[in-house]
Amino acid sequence: MTERFDVIVAGAGMVGACAALSFSRCGFRTALIEPRPPLDDIDPVDASYDLRVSAISPLSQHILSKLGVWPALDQSRVEHYHQMAIWHENGEANITFDSVELARDSLGAIVENRQILRALLAACEAQSTIEWFRPDAIELLQENSDQNLRVTLKSGVEIESDLLVAADGRNSNTRSLAGIDAWNGSYDQIAIVANLVTELPHQHTAWQRFLKTGPLAFLPLANGESSIVWSCDTELAEEILKMNDQPFCDAVGQALEYRLGAVTATSDRLSFPLSWHSCNRWLKNRILLIGDAAHGVHPLAGQGVNLGFSDVDVLIDMIGDLSRPWNQRKLRQFERQRKSETTLATHLFTGLKWLYGSDNPVLNRLRNSAMQCVQASPWSKRLLMKQAIQNMALNHLIPKL
Ligand SMILES: Cc1cc2nc3c(=O)[nH]c(=O)nc-3n(C[C@H](O)[C@H](O)[C@H](O)COP(=O)(O)OP(=O)(O)OC[C@H]3O[C@@H](n4cnc5c(N)ncnc54)[C@H](O)[C@@H]3O)c2cc1C
Repeated sequence: MTERFDVIVAGAGMVGACAALSFSRCGFRTALIEPRPPLDDIDPVDASYDLRVSAISPLSQHILSKLGVWPALDQSRVEHYHQMAIWHENGEANITFDSVELARDSLGAIVENRQILRALLAACEAQSTIEWFRPDAIELLQENSDQNLRVTLKSGVEIESDLLVAADGRNSNTRSLAGIDAWNGSYDQIAIVANLVTELPHQHTAWQRFLKTGPLAFLPLANGESSIVWSCDTELAEEILKMNDQPFCDAVGQALEYRLGAVTATSDRLSFPLSWHSCNRWLKNRILLIGDAAHGVHPLAGQGVNLGFSDVDVLIDMIGDLSRPWNQRKLRQFERQRKSETTLATHLFTGLKWLYGSDNPVLNRLRNSAMQCVQASPWSKRLLMKQAIQNMALNHLIPKL
């Protein structure tokens, strides 16, 4: 017999697990499909820090707290940062943001992705209204009638619902099966990720220097080390990736102008080719895209998963009090609101990447003057930080914080 659910979620990454947990807490019977085996089998916890970390905004912390997930994290491995220091390699355009100026405890927190995912998955496991299909994946989608979507899994199991939420990441297979087009473009950059010890303390500060070849971020970790995300033009990144540890550390230290002194590598390096994507529709009949399945931004502003958590929060706000999650008008409203907010974020981060990487003297003057104005104006600093803290959500989220 084909089992019926109120909602099916494809993908148990950070955003999909957050969505499944939120639906389930609203009383909806939820199917959760994930091709990877349980996390313990693939990614054991140990003392060393996960190479994948995220800057989690205060709004995302609030969203995860409402679900009981934030307090479940090992707080000794959560680093709250109080300042951000941003400058350009020509040395003229400096901006600093301070949590005191915003009357906040911190500007955000650096957390291992593995920790967030484990806490979300554990919370999902504890929900009797979530049924797992793992390891499994969607093979076929059939829309039978106005109220019914039949999903055939690779295992041969068939399930039905009025709503399928696709949170299966940037290469979303559900998006392809639904025939939703994504526009995408390469940034012609590769992000190099590594953990390092610095000679000087990180001072609970997120440091970002914009080089013409791409931004270098030093994110503070709770163990005193720093996690770097160095986005470089592809050719340069390939050279850097080939370097032995010492020349690599010298290059990183120099690229940050030794603001934290000499650096020593404590991990291997990972690399991620960088691209952006967005979709002209997020909703097609009963299929809805969220998270990286719907949008992909440059990591320079640390917003990708934050945008995904906001997708979930806005969706649940709109449909959580309905008896069933399927309501075309509400889902359209969600699509309109989140699509415009995330499209704005995608263009903004692409524009910043382009503006900071430009050699054009007129653009350079414009950039430097704009940054000087922001630095001199507490009001514009507050406005900019408020958007970052609120995951670029312009409309309804402001009263929440
Ligand atoms: C270098 C780097 C640094 C970053 N730093 C930050 C940061 O500081 N802050 C921030 O907010 N964001 C950051 N991001 C972005 C962030 O990592 C992503 O936006 C986020 O991981 C997306 O989460 P997701 O759950 O939407 O997708 P994913 O994490 O890709 O999860 C998708 C899930 O779907 C599953 N799946 C795949 N195929 C299928 C299928 N066919 N059916 C069902 N399930 C499937 C996958 O196994 C996975 O579990 C960074 C990204 C990079 C590359």
